[in-house]
Amino acid sequence: MSREYLFSLPRDLQVELGEVNAATPPAQSGRPYLVANVPSANAEVYAPEINFYLRSSHDSSQVKMESVEKLFDVRACIFEYAQDFSSDIDVDNRVAIISRTDRPQLMEKLQTLGLAPVLLESAQVLNVQGRIGSLQINMRTVDQHGSTVETDQIVWFEAPVEFSRKKGIYDPDQDGMEDVITALCDNYGTLQVRNTKKYDESICLYHGKRHDICGLCVDICPSSAITKARDGRYLRFSEIDCIHCGQCIGICPSGALDSTLLSVRSLGKAVSLYRNKHVLVITARIELETLQVRLPPGVLPFVIEQSDMLHENHLLAVLQASGKPMVIWSDSIPAATQGAIDLVNGIYRRIHDREAIYRCRSLDELQYVLDQLPTYDLPTHALAEPSVLKRKCVSQRIAHLVGEGSFGTVKTDPVLHYGTLTVDRAACTLCLSCADACGVGALLPFVEDNTLRFNPSLCTNCGYCQKTCPEPGCLQTVNNRIDLDPSFFSFQIMAADTIFHCSECGAAIGPSKSIEKIAAMMKPLFAGDPTRLKTLTCCPDCKAKLMVAAMHP
Ligand code: SF4
Ligand code: SF4
Repeated sequence: MSREYLFSLPRDLQVELGEVNAATPPAQSGRPYLVANVPSANAEVYAPEINFYLRSSHDSSQVKMESVEKLFDVRACIFEYAQDFSSDIDVDNRVAIISRTDRPQLMEKLQTLGLAPVLLESAQVLNVQGRIGSLQINMRTVDQHGSTVETDQIVWFEAPVEFSRKKGIYDPDQDGMEDVITALCDNYGTLQVRNTKKYDESICLYHGKRHDICGLCVDICPSSAITKARDGRYLRFSEIDCIHCGQCIGICPSGALDSTLLSVRSLGKAVSLYRNKHVLVITARIELETLQVRLPPGVLPFVIEQSDMLHENHLLAVLQASGKPMVIWSDSIPAATQGAIDLVNGIYRRIHDREAIYRCRSLDELQYVLDQLPTYDLPTHALAEPSVLKRKCVSQRIAHLVGEGSFGTVKTDPVLHYGTLTVDRAACTLCLSCADACGVGALLPFVEDNTLRFNPSLCTNCGYCQKTCPEPGCLQTVNNRIDLDPSFFSFQIMAADTIFHCSECGAAIGPSKSIEKIAAMMKPLFAGDPTRLKTLTCCPDCKAKLMVAAMHP
């Protein structure tokens, strides 16, 4: 075992572990170890699942020894790839009270606690911007010019719901006056802000596009920590308001959002250590120190901090690394994660006639599932080069399960945004607006044979191509399905055209239908001008030559 690990055998743990050396936690301060199984070791990472596993597992002593080492390695691997960083922000004592009525008692109470309250009339408040420690309240004034009040925190009676979810803005009618005052005092001073997600705008479906494309992360965020900027097509992130639930990561169809604590890449590395083990996913919320469960042989715990972030790419990565059915224990799971579990189980049921993921909501259910856990093997697969595009990884993983077979269609939850497209070949002019619009490379032009091709498994069903297509009814999205057939996982020809050649020099200039359509539209405008009429069907070089020749006959 690495010397960066501290393994300390608690007195109440009656296990035989052969060669593993038990050590006593050192007395000095600092972080002398990377991973430890006891909190008193002050290691970078405390791994309570190690003692939980030793106490609960029915593995043999030999297997336990090997598994304990694996559990240390898993934590070290996740730590190595984590990019979590924290920063401090200052919160001074200014508190704005927004109310329809005077609040003398509250003003007095806050003053006695060292805070500096000011009272603002609700009807005069236009808007609030900023974050805790630096909030700007835009006010209506009699002279119509408006004014701005700067404050650190706000007590807002009858606050609009979108503001009452932000840290530093509290509505006593919703939160209770006592809790509001406690929160104001707790926040006063220095607040530590964690950044637990990373964002790649280059693959975001909203960034720089239309206002109605995607934005699923904005809609799902329970604390208004992600918003759409009013002055442009980009997202704003407020780390101070983030409650680190991970729901935005779970729902993001493109992979633009990932966890800094457990990225898709680090999860892939960590779960590769679980080969031939049943992975038991447990959220960090659960107190493993006191948890009483019987783990059958071959079950190893995997603790994740943001259980709401799990999506189909994570689940498939776990199953294809371990080759065994997995168990998820969480009392609450968001719709996107549940949709992903249902999708993956739907695929395994169709292809292997078996469930792959068992989800448990209670301790009793967990014990029941563990006692009945089937031991069959599932196919393993590792991605040669994992992509940042979520759909690309999922596509490769499902394609491996499908192989050359054909297994019908699985319905997918609308929240997952899977689907396919139809293109009316007769109506398509191959203008390629759709391919330009598609942000995930699901629609591509193939210049070699002048075709438009589509890979349904990469499509996020965002509808941008449909909204961009200039031919009415030509392109239609078909929602909420995955066809378990090889054709769903590769590029298929959706429309084709012949190449149009310049009427003067014969050079290839583009798709025939598109050029003929534009020529037909422009013909009436150029009637009576034979030179201009000729330019409609020639290449840019010949067009210039014709125009120059017409000017200097
Ligand atoms: S869910 Fe993902 S792709 Fe959609 S707007 Fe948010 S970050 Fe962008
Ligand atoms: S093919 Fe169309 S619907 Fe699918 S991701 Fe691309 S733009 Fe969106």
